[in-house]
Amino acid sequence: MAQGTKWVYDFHQGTMKMKGLLGGKGANLAEMTRMGLPVPSGFTITTEACLEYLRTGSAPPEMDRQVDEALRRVEGRMKRRLGDLENPLLVSVRSGARYSMPGMMDTVLNLGLNDRSVYGLARQARSDRFAFDSYRRFIQMFARIVMGVPAEPFEEALDRAKERKGRGTTDADLEAVELQGLVERFKRIVREHAGRLFPQEPREQLRMAIEAVFQSWNNERANTYRKQYRIPDDLGTAVNVQAMVFGNRGEESGTGVAFTRDPATGERGIYGDYLPNAQGEDVVAGIRNTLPLAELGHIDPPSFRELQGIMARLEEHYRDMCDIEFTIEERKLWMLQTRVGKRTGAAAVRMAVEMVGEGLISKEEAVARVEPEQLDQLLHKQFDPKATFDVLAKGINASPGAAVGQAVFDADTAEAWAKEGRPVILVRRETNPDDLHGMFAAEGILTSHGGKTSHAAVVARGHGTPAVCGAEALKIDHARKRFVTGSTTVNEGDVISIDGTTGRIVVGEVDLVEPKLSGDFHTLLGWADEIRRLKVRANADNGPDAKKARSFGAQGIGLCRTEHMFGTPGDPRLPVFRQVILAAAKARAAQLELESAEREAAEARGSGRRAAQDRVKAAKAALRSDEIKPYFDGLKKLLSGQRKDFEAIFRAMDGLPVTIRLLDPPLHEFLPSSKDLAVALASPDTKESRQLLREFGGKRRSEEVLREVLALEENNPMLGLRGCRLGILYPDIYRIQVQAIVEAACNVKGRGGEPVVEIMVPLVATRAELEAVAADARRVAAEVIERKGVEVEYLIGTMIELPRAALAADEIAEEAEFFSFGTNDLTQTTFGFSRDDVEAMFLPRYLEQKVLPQNPFETLDQPGVGELVRTACERGRKTREDIKLGICGEHGGDPLSVRFFHQIGLDYVSCSPYRVPLARLAAAQAVLGEADTSSK
Ligand code: PEP
Ligand code: MG
Repeated sequence: MAQGTKWVYDFHQGTMKMKGLLGGKGANLAEMTRMGLPVPSGFTITTEACLEYLRTGSAPPEMDRQVDEALRRVEGRMKRRLGDLENPLLVSVRSGARYSMPGMMDTVLNLGLNDRSVYGLARQARSDRFAFDSYRRFIQMFARIVMGVPAEPFEEALDRAKERKGRGTTDADLEAVELQGLVERFKRIVREHAGRLFPQEPREQLRMAIEAVFQSWNNERANTYRKQYRIPDDLGTAVNVQAMVFGNRGEESGTGVAFTRDPATGERGIYGDYLPNAQGEDVVAGIRNTLPLAELGHIDPPSFRELQGIMARLEEHYRDMCDIEFTIEERKLWMLQTRVGKRTGAAAVRMAVEMVGEGLISKEEAVARVEPEQLDQLLHKQFDPKATFDVLAKGINASPGAAVGQAVFDADTAEAWAKEGRPVILVRRETNPDDLHGMFAAEGILTSHGGKTSHAAVVARGHGTPAVCGAEALKIDHARKRFVTGSTTVNEGDVISIDGTTGRIVVGEVDLVEPKLSGDFHTLLGWADEIRRLKVRANADNGPDAKKARSFGAQGIGLCRTEHMFGTPGDPRLPVFRQVILAAAKARAAQLELESAEREAAEARGSGRRAAQDRVKAAKAALRSDEIKPYFDGLKKLLSGQRKDFEAIFRAMDGLPVTIRLLDPPLHEFLPSSKDLAVALASPDTKESRQLLREFGGKRRSEEVLREVLALEENNPMLGLRGCRLGILYPDIYRIQVQAIVEAACNVKGRGGEPVVEIMVPLVATRAELEAVAADARRVAAEVIERKGVEVEYLIGTMIELPRAALAADEIAEEAEFFSFGTNDLTQTTFGFSRDDVEAMFLPRYLEQKVLPQNPFETLDQPGVGELVRTACERGRKTREDIKLGICGEHGGDPLSVRFFHQIGLDYVSCSPYRVPLARLAAAQAVLGEADTSSK
């Protein structure tokens, strides 16, 4: 770093624009100071200093000097001195990164106290009790955070002090002498555990605390949080050193957290929690139950009015909802923090739309302001209004949406069970950052303590997890893994339901229903639609899903996976399709034999002719044989089933394009595994074996089936007989699919509908493959159109999901009228990662060790897979200028990937119905992002 670097900024030297250097908290404290609001004096050590510290292992020497100078200025302004015997200054030392990471990093309060200055504080506050209580809190916090002493010995000592005083004693009942005794005990605990004395020199305390905050950037909690919210690891944290003010100086003091609008619903009007006679951490930790902020209007009307005025100013200044932390010390209001507040999806949408109505922001700002992922919460389920159930208890409706799951009482179990696919509700007295992994894994969160601003509530809302907090009726016993309410006991593993929208808690499973979307939701997405250029389609395989997708604003179907119409286990169509598969090879051989015999008969002369005709006869008989007949019968049944499905989809998407993909997966996916069959044949008397053998027509027939299954087995099935390769080897399957599609379109059109048909061929690598399948499809379509006498138009295109197809896109475009990028397979084949195995095998480690920046199956790998997509677009367009270009892999619903697809000029993205609203918003934000960068 250059000589003369400025490492330290007084609050009045910064602005809210300096978040990168001063962190969010520091920049906003600076802004409030500039606005003339009552902010206790202080300074910020920059994120650059943190990075330098983490890089070299020690703080820049120049920083120390600058801290000394800044400290002197704070002392001057506050007219108190750090460590002073008469009038000591105490400071807080807090972290503050560029992006808010609530509770993730460390904070030290009351710094500056020692065996001498504690008497100064007692004189200044006219209370020995207050001074010793502050000192014991400081030792406890400092020892734990800065010196790494465990928390338990302090808590045990505190409990013993209370016990000595008698049952029912609380912290507040301990008197000065007892607290003084605790201070001595605490210092001994420090010496025993840390192997050194508690530091008495305030400047040394400060140096140690600053370094601890720097180091906390890399603690496990902070790392987990950054990964979850995709915050880069190389930003570092700033450190804010600020004069302490005390909310715990009696009943005329207190502390609170507030929002300028309701962060859960978005409703106008200030909103928050207040805790009299307490320090800030007590509110956030949810340790004591708080009062609603409005109560402050009765307790201390002038401070409340001043606070209301400040909040109105902040909202106007930031042009957004702000959250704040404040402290009142003996009726004097101090602002400790502000920032643009976190909010639920519902609140984000409502605030954005209402702020446009209030003239505070523009429509574009409203669209830019709502995170696409937040819309997800609005699509959350709720209790079915028709369901009947008894409400066990009610808590605070901390994060909207309803959830059902098995009760678990610790984060590790929550994570483990969720990994096994068991939905869980995490039940805790209160949560803290160590519970994060369990909170992220849970369907819902339930706590008995803390309000809407507690850790549980903030994390749940941010993550879109339903949560009910502060349900005081629940007596939670973590040791015995259960909670009791009245006569009801809920043990670990019992199913419970919670409704984070209303706060209801129910024992047992309540039916959940899909949510209704608000007018504001449609208004906001309507604005997004005016801005975006990319169209948004949905991936859907049946009429109801297509309808749902359309109600979410889908402009067509980008991918209808026809294999889902051949049935999943339990579906009556599956045995029919199995019958087709099992006879397919023999049927194809007989067909080829017939073709060859007919050719021979046509060319043969004389006696050879008779032999050839016999051969034709035999081939025809083979095709009618019992072995092959089920194949043709099965195809007929599949044809009529598919036709019905396609009609339903065309009707649901009337007037909008529907891309139907011909069969793609390897055939063995529809058959039992050879292992299961072999086991059943070897030990046919178990219940499972009997069932399996019965399904395949008894033991003898099952032996034949096993031979067929073995014949279809491949070492790399995802690189094997699938996609268009199936269509070329077994053309009948594709033929009946095309016939079903075109007949369905004719039927719908005949009844006045407007089907827009796109037939898509999967897994094409070469132009010749597509040419073969497309020629056959065109023939079949022409026959149907002729027979039906209804003119329907259709396009034939291909998926681009193999690197070769992307590179040879110019050739392939000669045959294809559209491309749809199958980025799932394209990612699989570009990386050579098996998409079915990688997430269980090594991807988590890759992400942890940062070998990969993100899961490439979630967010498109732009430098690799993205380049192939870009190249294919350019080459495809060179051959066919108006070729339609879309993407239907999972990335179509991922906001970051959508931005890329916009940039490279695709026509549409296609994603699951529930992601359609997100994709609409993300597509609009991609346009707005462009304007941002072009104006810079
Ligand atoms: C793809 O590969 O991206 C795709 C959409 O097809 P599927 O997921 O069905 O293989
Ligand atoms: Mg694919």
